[in-house]
Amino acid sequence: MAETQPGAPRRRTLSVEDYVAGVRAGDRTILSRAITLIESRNPEHHKLAQALLQQLLPHTGGAHRVGITGVPGVGKSTFIEALGKNLTADGHKVAVLAVDPSSSRSGGSILGDKTRMGELSVDPGAYIRPSPSAGTLGGVTRVTRESMLVCEAAGFDVVLIETVGAGQNETEVAQMVDFFLVLMLPGAGDELQGIKKGVLELADMIAVNKADGENEIKAKLAARDYASALHIMKPASPTWHPPCITISAIKNLGLDNLWGHIQSHRQKLDKTGELAEKRARQQVRWMWTQVEDRLLSALRHHPDVVDALPKLEQTVANGEITAGFAADEILEAFGLNPLDED
Ligand code: GDP
Repeated sequence: MAETQPGAPRRRTLSVEDYVAGVRAGDRTILSRAITLIESRNPEHHKLAQALLQQLLPHTGGAHRVGITGVPGVGKSTFIEALGKNLTADGHKVAVLAVDPSSSRSGGSILGDKTRMGELSVDPGAYIRPSPSAGTLGGVTRVTRESMLVCEAAGFDVVLIETVGAGQNETEVAQMVDFFLVLMLPGAGDELQGIKKGVLELADMIAVNKADGENEIKAKLAARDYASALHIMKPASPTWHPPCITISAIKNLGLDNLWGHIQSHRQKLDKTGELAEKRARQQVRWMWTQVEDRLLSALRHHPDVVDALPKLEQTVANGEITAGFAADEILEAFGLNPLDED
């Protein structure tokens, strides 16, 4: 199997073996092409990408997988740039990926934008990839998960996955990482009012950013408030109570402490076996998510279902038949005997 990248007819066609060798050798061009392949909607590319991932699998799993979320303006790109540079200076290899379902390549992605991380993007120890565009086969989440594996096989030992604090994407990112970091703005009380409880449940740590200048005290107060909010929640792990700290991304303050917590989390959960369990759970869940997504898509595209749907939806909406009866009809049109389930 081999592929030709769309729009780049002069590029040499690569076989799976070429991709594997290039990625393993840390060749950035081939790494980028492998991710482009993963993003492609072309079924042939999809097959090739799956063959590539299968071969790379034994070389994956070696990175600290860290998800980072926060509202626009909280300082995510400033933070990732500062942390990324600290880490590469310490000899780490850092990949930055992004999950932004609103992004379209032509319109430009808000996240993972290289111009937002100017210094890190030219750092030889770092690799930055903007968010795949929405509408990618299997969704942005699939692409990001698979890109993370390719980056690990290419030798990156830290993968930072950036997302915006909106909708379902935070949960999806939390389900693909070892550690989920929530960045907050100073602002104590008011801020806490508006905070979504859901994100606190996902957080392995809260870092209040912009703790500098006149915001320093406000940031400390906010961190204290978040700490008490977290205190009344049941922790996700018996071994880990999410810390609430303050940082200044722009001044590079508190970032060593922050990374220390991430390492300590890894050591503790490694020791108890929770990290391996967490990753295993994530994989199985991910397998089911894919099966469910594809089944639903097959059902929605089945010609008999497509034919039956408009009338069924309407009669259910009008109250002429029950939703349960209509569901049975749809499943039957798809070829399932509804009574057979379970
Ligand atoms: P993002 O939208 O979450 O990626 O946020 P940016 O990194 O683009 O930052 C938004 C604004 O906040 C920019 O003007 C940054 O310079 C500023 N900013 C980011 N981090 C800090 C910080 O630690 N302290 C201060 N005072 N400003 C910051």
